[in-house]
Amino acid sequence: MLKILKQGEARLNVIEYEGVVFLRVSHGGFNLSEVAPHIDAMYIETTDEDVINGLVSKVRESNKVSEYLMPVFASSIAMKPALETVVDGFVRNMDFFQAARQTREIQERIGQIKYSEVGDENYDDYVLKTLSFLFSRNQALMPFRKRNSSTGYAYPFLCNLDHADGFSQLEYINTAVQDGLLNTTLVDKVNHCPHCSDTFLHFRESCSSCGSIDLKYEDLIHHFKCAHVAPLSDFVQGDKLCCPKCDNELRHIGIDYDKPSEITVCNTCNHQSQETNMTVHCMGCGKESSLSELNTHDVNSFEITEKGIVRAINGKKTQVITKHKQVSSNVIEWDLFKLYLRQETKRAQLSGSPAAMVSIRLNAEALWELSTHESGVLQHEVLNILSSYIRPTDLVAARNIFDYQIIVTMGSTEYVEELKHVVEVNLIKLIKDNLQIESCSVEVFSEELGGNANMAIV
Ligand SMILES: [Zn+2]
Ligand SMILES: [Zn+2]
Ligand SMILES: [Zn+2]
Repeated sequence: MLKILKQGEARLNVIEYEGVVFLRVSHGGFNLSEVAPHIDAMYIETTDEDVINGLVSKVRESNKVSEYLMPVFASSIAMKPALETVVDGFVRNMDFFQAARQTREIQERIGQIKYSEVGDENYDDYVLKTLSFLFSRNQALMPFRKRNSSTGYAYPFLCNLDHADGFSQLEYINTAVQDGLLNTTLVDKVNHCPHCSDTFLHFRESCSSCGSIDLKYEDLIHHFKCAHVAPLSDFVQGDKLCCPKCDNELRHIGIDYDKPSEITVCNTCNHQSQETNMTVHCMGCGKESSLSELNTHDVNSFEITEKGIVRAINGKKTQVITKHKQVSSNVIEWDLFKLYLRQETKRAQLSGSPAAMVSIRLNAEALWELSTHESGVLQHEVLNILSSYIRPTDLVAARNIFDYQIIVTMGSTEYVEELKHVVEVNLIKLIKDNLQIESCSVEVFSEELGGNANMAIV
């Protein structure tokens, strides 16, 4: 059943098939957050590959689970190998049966995911996004050939995220492999220029004597009667073949003579040889290398592990708690804290009156083992302690259960040093008493605001 639904003021062009609502789009002129709550999937109706990639990126770059994991389909008229892994599928002749079924399967998996948003701050967020995508699609991340990628390959999903090309994607993904969240299967090996890492390489034979690539190839002739072996050109006399050693005519191949192999003749130095060198010419930097100098790089597919599935469903420890119980009025949410920090930095710059930021990091393996609830309790306690030592004009926020920051407004150096000390002592005591562990440390450092303070929260 096809129909156009009216959603509030905006008239969305949607297609409903057995209860699954597809947004029908051919360009990017819509607000994703506004339409996402009203639709289940997206159906792209254009053959323009750039437009399709742009629309997929618009969806995948979101930080909201319900948006970046949204199923995206394209019309089968746009079917191209490069798009096959970028979209979830193609719709042929407006038959949405398969797309609707796939959407319901993906939604069933998305429903198991326990967080609604990921951050965009570091590679943990990026890895989590990728894990949740693989979990929701229930399939491996397979590389596809992409001519303008530095490896010659790209990965679906990753290629539609920011900065996701070539090695940078792989750096993120390889950390997830090291953490046991993904397994790899070798798909291809790629050669890279040792000078610039480019993979656009020309391979060619060169003369083993002078290095010239101007070579010609000739058959070798073996004359049975006298056992003479020489290049074909030595035997040619007019339209006959005559042996230069014994002067007999060669008539029948297999009876008088045979062609045991080929020989290479250099047009530059006339060197004749059955051995040539292989040289590699890099189309990126123009330099020559030998085969043995090339760097080789594995291209893998990635499959989510059991541990990866647990992470994909539960999220990462470091983003479990964003909404904590109000501890005191100078404990604020992280996003708000970042805003205040910028504000305070500007104020300090303009007024010249001192301000500082104190950063605290808890180092304890045991924190990774805590349940979501326990993490929440710990974070609450840490904020309690911090807020009890700062003045009403200072602000504190938790970035995650490991990292906390305090803005000290108008504090003297002595005050900041004293604060660092009491914070360290009290937090170590809190962790040791409550988690019954010996190996833990608390790093506390400070910096003056107005300098490079913003760098610290990036
Ligand atoms: Zn030569
Ligand atoms: Zn002969
Ligand atoms: Zn190069």
